[in-house]
Amino acid sequence: MPHSIIVIGAGIGGLTAGALLARRGYDVTIYEQARVPGGCASTFKRQGFSFDVGATQVAGLEPGGVHQRVFAELGINLPTATPCDPACAVFLPHETEPIQVWRDSKRWQLERQRQFPGSEPFWQLMAELFRASWNFQGREPVLPPRNIWDFWQLISALRLDTLITVPFALMTVGDALRLYGLGNDQRLKSFLDLQLKLYSQVNADETALLYAATVLAVSQAPQGLYHLHGSMQVLSNCLVEALEKYGGKLKLGYSIENIHSQNNRVEQVTIRHQKTRETSIETADHFVANVTIQNLIKLLDPPPSLFWGLYRNRVDKLPRSSGAFVVYLGVDRQAIPDGCPPHLQFLYENNQPISENNSLFISVSEPGDGRAPKGKATIIASSFTDPQIWFHQAPEAYQALKQKYTSDAIARLSSYFHLTSDTLIYQEAATPYTFARFTARDKGIVGGIGQRVSTFGPFGIATRTPLKNLWLVGDSTHPGEGTAGVSYSALTVVRQISISQ
Ligand SMILES: Cc1cc2nc3c(=O)[nH]c(=O)nc-3n(C[C@H](O)[C@H](O)[C@H](O)COP(=O)(O)OP(=O)(O)OC[C@H]3O[C@@H](n4cnc5c(N)ncnc54)[C@H](O)[C@@H]3O)c2cc1C
Repeated sequence: MPHSIIVIGAGIGGLTAGALLARRGYDVTIYEQARVPGGCASTFKRQGFSFDVGATQVAGLEPGGVHQRVFAELGINLPTATPCDPACAVFLPHETEPIQVWRDSKRWQLERQRQFPGSEPFWQLMAELFRASWNFQGREPVLPPRNIWDFWQLISALRLDTLITVPFALMTVGDALRLYGLGNDQRLKSFLDLQLKLYSQVNADETALLYAATVLAVSQAPQGLYHLHGSMQVLSNCLVEALEKYGGKLKLGYSIENIHSQNNRVEQVTIRHQKTRETSIETADHFVANVTIQNLIKLLDPPPSLFWGLYRNRVDKLPRSSGAFVVYLGVDRQAIPDGCPPHLQFLYENNQPISENNSLFISVSEPGDGRAPKGKATIIASSFTDPQIWFHQAPEAYQALKQKYTSDAIARLSSYFHLTSDTLIYQEAATPYTFARFTARDKGIVGGIGQRVSTFGPFGIATRTPLKNLWLVGDSTHPGEGTAGVSYSALTVVRQISISQ
């Protein structure tokens, strides 16, 4: 009898883990509370437009990239994708010329030398750290290690060139800027804040330097950021196809309500059918939770051992996570200026960290990429917001706040796009409340736990939990958010489960 696995949630983390485990001969069932798989990387359709719910760009599709490796093991083709070049056009407050993050490294070097004179030594350090970290990560270390096998995987991935990263392991980007005398370069700082907040959930002063070295370099070839043809849903669909090809099952519309444990092992889970509200109990040899760590804590019933208490304490002490406010616009193509890049970022306040609603990250569909009918386009714009302000409100107050954020976003978008009553065809918005409802993420938090020194790499959240047969995948765990990050955590769990038999 093959070992049975229950996967809780069909986000990219759960689907990748589930499909790989099915490929390796396990009897896999994935339960997903929503009606579509993909979680934050899924898509919804309105009036002929396809809107990506959250994730719009994908890393890790290049040869040797994490999605490419997963797809090769699954024996399925990678989805068709176009590299983004520039990966992003960044507009700082009151500036009309963007900083273009080009895909070609030489071109990007010239651009940043022109935009941020005197900063090249800092960028060279980042490039050195990136090379060493990327090679290290490619040897599949397990971080943070929780047993002897994990430690061995970590030690085996170390090489002489990894040593260069050691003195920088406890530094933030802010520390490195100060080291190079750039601590007062507000323009460079704002650019880094904007880019890093997208990937690490925190500003430059807080982001772990080694994490930043990687995420700031993945926009350039031979890595790169890509737009999938069709929509982000294509990624989940491919993984579902692979899961089913190897005999795995995906059950949509089923929510795991409780995880029951005994003697330091999960025994069973309570599952509720969302439509009929009926519950059932299922058992398995392993349980892979593709949920936020905050959700995981709430699912355990009753909370088990002393170790679990320590684990929960750590989660309680994590800094508050961010939420997202997103507007989805369906527009006439005339609304899009000529030469508009696929991604743009705007900061609206000088000398301020990225915080409540003071920036926008924008993703624009390309003609013929399957997201909009001919002659039309989609614009998706997101900003960071504190999830707390969206909950425990009277419905009218919530709607008023949502309307204000929507109007603010559209007014700001109108300074770049030609948005008029003629060109704006469809609009919708999502708040943390919406994310909580459709992705079941605790308080609608998105993007993981933030990549500070205290929560990154060896200090991050492990895929192993205090319960022997309960595993965590997804953006709470190392190496953090993004479809590539969560796929890496899925790969780690698959290796850990395979070795534990
Ligand atoms: C606005 C926004 C923009 C982003 N942009 C990008 C981007 O451009 N590129 C990028 O790579 N990343 C981006 N991200 C981040 C990326 O989307 C996420 O980090 C990643 O998709 C998270 O995947 P996951 O598998 O960890 O979790 P999720 O996507 O949260 O999936 C978890 C799944 O589990 C289900 N679930 C939860 N609890 C239960 C339960 N009890 N029972 C059953 N099912 C359950 C949920 O419904 C969900 O489908 C963005 C995120 C947001 C919000």
